[in-house]
Amino acid sequence: MIDACSQESKPLLSIDDALDRIKIAIHPVSGTEKLVLKDALGRVLAEPVYSPINIPHDRNSAMDGYAFASRDVADGQAFTLSLAGTSWAGRPFEGTLQPGQCVRIFTGAVVPEHADSVIMQEQVQVLEQTINFPADTRALQNIREIGEDVKQGACIIAQPKKLTAVDLGLLASAGVGEVTVKRRLKIAYFSTGDELTALGGPLEPGKIYDSNRAMLGGLLADPGYSVVDLGVIPDNKQLLQHSFIEASLNHDVIITTGGASVGEADYVKEILQSCGEVNFWKIAIKPGKPLAFGKIGGCHFFGLPGNPVAVVVTFQQIVAPALRQLSGAPPAKPLRFTATCTTALKKAPGRKEYQRGILSKDEHGEFFVASAGRQGSNILSSMSQSGCYIVLPEQCNGVQPGDKVTVEPFSLLI
Ligand code: AMP
Ligand code: MG
Repeated sequence: MIDACSQESKPLLSIDDALDRIKIAIHPVSGTEKLVLKDALGRVLAEPVYSPINIPHDRNSAMDGYAFASRDVADGQAFTLSLAGTSWAGRPFEGTLQPGQCVRIFTGAVVPEHADSVIMQEQVQVLEQTINFPADTRALQNIREIGEDVKQGACIIAQPKKLTAVDLGLLASAGVGEVTVKRRLKIAYFSTGDELTALGGPLEPGKIYDSNRAMLGGLLADPGYSVVDLGVIPDNKQLLQHSFIEASLNHDVIITTGGASVGEADYVKEILQSCGEVNFWKIAIKPGKPLAFGKIGGCHFFGLPGNPVAVVVTFQQIVAPALRQLSGAPPAKPLRFTATCTTALKKAPGRKEYQRGILSKDEHGEFFVASAGRQGSNILSSMSQSGCYIVLPEQCNGVQPGDKVTVEPFSLLI
């Protein structure tokens, strides 16, 4: 695809081709470590886990009520049983149920031998030690069978999986206290640019505060990533080259922002070329065209654009899937669906665009999306106010109100 706006002489790489190239270039890390469960949230499981026990481990009651044997049910008639004792959660009834008896039972308590049914306490009449069961009593109800959730020896979680809070609960229910996970990715990131000013200091003429590092810190917040903020590097070739090489020695990934374009002070791609290799530079997306991907030694390198919105878009669409792949996690496809656009959207054919939108749903369940306002790649405020991307294909040349568009809601992290 030739980008008409910038008169590119060479066709730009489509985002799908860029993602394919990354897929080929990246191999998941092989190192693993053993962790106790409480430290394993968000980590990538490296070995399958088999349950050492049946879950439930005992036949137990799903209700607070009375356990009885179906042999005692009078066919379609009300009947009476005598109370033989109580089974509490954690303190089972120790006797054996005799014909004509029932046992008071609570949710989670072991169902006594010979009992095969539980009736809800609301459905019986209690007269001291005598329990009256109604005519419509149903046998064989309200019992959780041994292994009905998980069978002993069954695989409860297959690898690779990024462990969720629910997974930790499942593992704990099987008594599994430790898991083997992939090692954390070592990621270094920094900003480049003479204009960047650290927070807290006054803003000199022509300077700006460094928003990209603050954002990247948030975007990289993941239990599977060990992240180092290397600060700001000025637009100085020697300093940049030195920083790239230093960081490549002990990290799996370097992410930079700024200096990746074609300005006189944009050195990132040139330095990557001289001290490593460039896999691709520039892709047919907007915002985010000037993106350099390559390698320095064994370290993957993502040189993101400088404009903050372009940083978010390229991070989410390109870097995040690459980091997942490198960490050994399975791919996560973004949720996308169709909505009716309520505003006109400007777009020139050439690049795939990620415009910022505000999503809503009417009373019939139909989705609508409106532009979140100005779409410049420097306009972070409209990004902050929006809730989704409006994804416009390369050939699209604008959207009229009422047109159907593809939307991609933001993940909870941004
Ligand atoms: P560059 O790619 O270095 O030419 O940067 C493109 C635009 O992004 C310029 O307006 C920069 O000032 C801006 N920019 C670069 N880095 C940052 C940053 N860390 N925070 C905010 N804006 C930035
Ligand atoms: Mg710059």
